[in-house]
Amino acid sequence: MIPVSEAIEIVRAQTPRLGPEEVELADSLGRVLAEDVIADTDLPPFDRAQMDGYALRSADTSDVPARLLVVGEAAAGRGWHKTLRAGEAVRIMTGAPVPAGADSVQQVEVTSEQDEGRAVEISKATEPGQFIVPRASEIKRGETVLHKGEEVTAARMAVLASFGCSKVLVGARPRVAVLATGTELVPVTETPGRDQIRDSNTFSLGAYAALAGARVERLNLAGDDLELLKREIKEVAGRADALVLSGGVSMGVYDFTKAALRALGAEIFFERVSLRPGKPTVFARLGNALVFGLPGNPVSVSVTFNLFARTALRIMQGATDVLMKEERAVLSRSVRGALERESFLPAQLRTDEAGRLMAEPLKWGGSSDFVAFARATALVNIPQGTKTIEAGETVRVLRLPA
Ligand code: AMP
Ligand code: MG
Repeated sequence: MIPVSEAIEIVRAQTPRLGPEEVELADSLGRVLAEDVIADTDLPPFDRAQMDGYALRSADTSDVPARLLVVGEAAAGRGWHKTLRAGEAVRIMTGAPVPAGADSVQQVEVTSEQDEGRAVEISKATEPGQFIVPRASEIKRGETVLHKGEEVTAARMAVLASFGCSKVLVGARPRVAVLATGTELVPVTETPGRDQIRDSNTFSLGAYAALAGARVERLNLAGDDLELLKREIKEVAGRADALVLSGGVSMGVYDFTKAALRALGAEIFFERVSLRPGKPTVFARLGNALVFGLPGNPVSVSVTFNLFARTALRIMQGATDVLMKEERAVLSRSVRGALERESFLPAQLRTDEAGRLMAEPLKWGGSSDFVAFARATALVNIPQGTKTIEAGETVRVLRLPA
């Protein structure tokens, strides 16, 4: 049995990075940048008016009210490209370039038009620089605005667009196949007969893999048939970057996952982790495919997928953040740890009246209770060898992707 941290290190060491590919900007949401993004222009690219009003020389407003001659108009996208002189003003709109010679903008609310717009009375003095966003004050051309390994978010798409990235170089999405074992399972389209249940892992695993950025293939149920399992694993390992199997890794007479992997000559890196839930987790490689054999229990499958398989899928894409998001929270009731295993217990996070992040461990029927688990937003991490952690103590929590 190896510690969770060591298992994660093994996953990191064995996972290859996939090559990059170019995608359209509009298709880049959620993808991982494969190169730094450099600003190809200053932002703003010119001194920009921040208000509708008049561009003028602040010296001309030292004595207010001041009457200035209106010599032109600067609109967004259509500037006034002469030089403003003493005693002059240019009518200006938000987003327009501030004309040379002007050092400030006064907002229209403290001005009044005169002589049918040929002049303006300014009733409040301006400071030099007022209501002007200077050229390059936000970003200088040549600066790195986004970093390799960062994920493209909605806001970052605006950054990419602003610097002309109509195509974006991103890490390729890993192809992941999901295969559930278990004679008791029927597909969601069927009504379970005697002793049967519906397969749910194919869908939670497929969804977690998609959230991690993978392209997902859901395979037909494999039963508990060693020969069928061998055929399926061999066939899919030839075309997938990762294969996620659920069930069949325990000590039961019909647990064939490891036997199938061994018979196919897979390299097994670990098969028992001191983890609760999820002790019998298997990590192997067959050909070029990484194989995760996860315990079939619906809660174990979710915990082990997100600890191990998700990490590999993030590494394949070249992401900087490959682990679940970690935070500190205050326990709202006491929980028990395990002597020989590190625990990851489902919990709901909420913020209390004092603004503290609280973790409320689920009241549930144990690690097969996936209906209760569906309410969890995080896992409370309890170190190995901890008897109990009392309410009010601070714990490490990992956010579950959702
Ligand atoms: P196993 O790891 O195969 O021993 O399965 C452990 C428990 O999880 C058993 O109660 C199984 O019926 C259940 N289980 C296994 N696979 C699935 C699945 N795909 N969907 C729902 N429950 C499952
Ligand atoms: Mg089984």
